Amino acid sequence: MRASDFLPPTMSDSTIETSPRHAIVIGGGPAGLMAAEVLAAGGARVDLYDAMPSVGRKFLLAGKGGMNITHAEPYDAFAARYGSRAPAVRPWLDAFPPDQVRDWIHGLGIDTFVGTSGRVFPTDMKAAPLLRAWLHRLRGAGVTFHMRHRWLGWRDGVLLFATPDGERATDAQGAATVLALGGASWARLGSDGAWVPLLAARGVAVAPLVPANCGFDADWTEHFASRHAGAPLTTVAMAVAGGAFRKGQFVVTASGIEGSLVYALSAAIRDRIAQDGQATVLVDLLPDHDPERVLDEVTRPRGTRSMSSHLQSRLGIKGVKSGLLHECLSKADYADPVRLARALKALPLVLKRPRPIDEAISSAGGVRFEALEGGTMLRALPGVFVAGEMVDWEAPTGGYLLTACFGSGRAAGRAALDWLAER
Ligand SMILES: Cc1cc2nc3c(=O)[nH]c(=O)nc-3n(C[C@H](O)[C@H](O)[C@H](O)COP(=O)(O)OP(=O)(O)OC[C@H]3O[C@@H](n4cnc5c(N)ncnc54)[C@H](O)[C@@H]3O)c2cc1C
Repeated sequence: MRASDFLPPTMSDSTIETSPRHAIVIGGGPAGLMAAEVLAAGGARVDLYDAMPSVGRKFLLAGKGGMNITHAEPYDAFAARYGSRAPAVRPWLDAFPPDQVRDWIHGLGIDTFVGTSGRVFPTDMKAAPLLRAWLHRLRGAGVTFHMRHRWLGWRDGVLLFATPDGERATDAQGAATVLALGGASWARLGSDGAWVPLLAARGVAVAPLVPANCGFDADWTEHFASRHAGAPLTTVAMAVAGGAFRKGQFVVTASGIEGSLVYALSAAIRDRIAQDGQATVLVDLLPDHDPERVLDEVTRPRGTRSMSSHLQSRLGIKGVKSGLLHECLSKADYADPVRLARALKALPLVLKRPRPIDEAISSAGGVRFEALEGGTMLRALPGVFVAGEMVDWEAPTGGYLLTACFGSGRAAGRAALDWLAER
């Protein structure tokens, strides 16, 4: 029997026992808060430290864009979204699957709904009411928050923090420590990846942090960028050369492309660029037309009309779609109806580099699973657990990121309770 087996199913009740067991959580994003909740519910005295003046800043930002908190697709499809890391992430998800995430949110007094895409949102699409209710519950469970405490590493077994009043040392002797320090995007919200050298110096294997769910630079001509930056391409499909097309939408930026369709393919694009120096994606500008129909329309007699106005009147190609054709095709290809028709269904667009990690929705890389015992404890540092985006997994947008952060935070909290109980 493990200590975590005694946890109440909802984790919302008051502590099941009082004990001097001490847990330190560093990082107050969704992963750290969830670890703190489990630890407090399991009877530990919990101190939570964060570098920022308040917790959950990235979580709140996610709420500004209409936060997807989880996804309602069939569970096996859901679990497969974690790609090559799916087997490692699966135990976190199994212990806290999407329907339980929703129940947990409902337990905070927040309703959810499933959007047409299957994404699950809080009813008011905001993160703030959820975070407020959650923090209220955590305080009630006895979690003590220490804000403006930037963790600097260990010295002689004590945890060092930079605070507004100078450096502070906290004795972690006998305590379980959960690190939930996030990835390295949007550093101004707190997660800056500064923990990487601290763990690497302790012999923890860390994969380099790289952008995930990010935009890419295409090095547009000035002519194209000045006319079309900011223009959305709705109803298109995209594939990484050699892969399957996906329908969706993206936006032309001053330097390249971004948006949900790009994010969905961003891991493959990023890895292709790392391997080949650049990546070619194919854009289907007419995903609802079959190639024969497109060829038929392109080759239809057009009299004195230019090809641009012919494409506009026969196929609705105008604005940014028309601009993209001119930008990506040579004059000779544009003038050849067969090649033009092919390009309308698979326009090659060369992407040069991912946008900087700080702009990304999330980051990939982090503490490698091989460095973990039981999925959350650092082999090199027994009693130190990790959770959330700082671990080496990635997932597309759509609620998968938060679900795995919650699940890993819960797994780390449970493992920390068990570790404390065994001592
Ligand atoms: C614009 C945007 C929109 C998003 N939308 C969604 C969405 O709709 N759905 C979804 O699933 N995901 C979304 N995400 C991703 C999601 O917010 C993150 O994956 C999630 O917040 C990561 O949780 P975490 O607890 O691992 O880390 P974080 O939320 O990054 O929290 C880490 C915490 O650790 C603290 N910290 C870091 N270093 C130190 C240190 N040295 N000392 C002390 N404290 C430290 C930070 O201050 C921070 O509070 C979005 C992200 C962005 C940027």
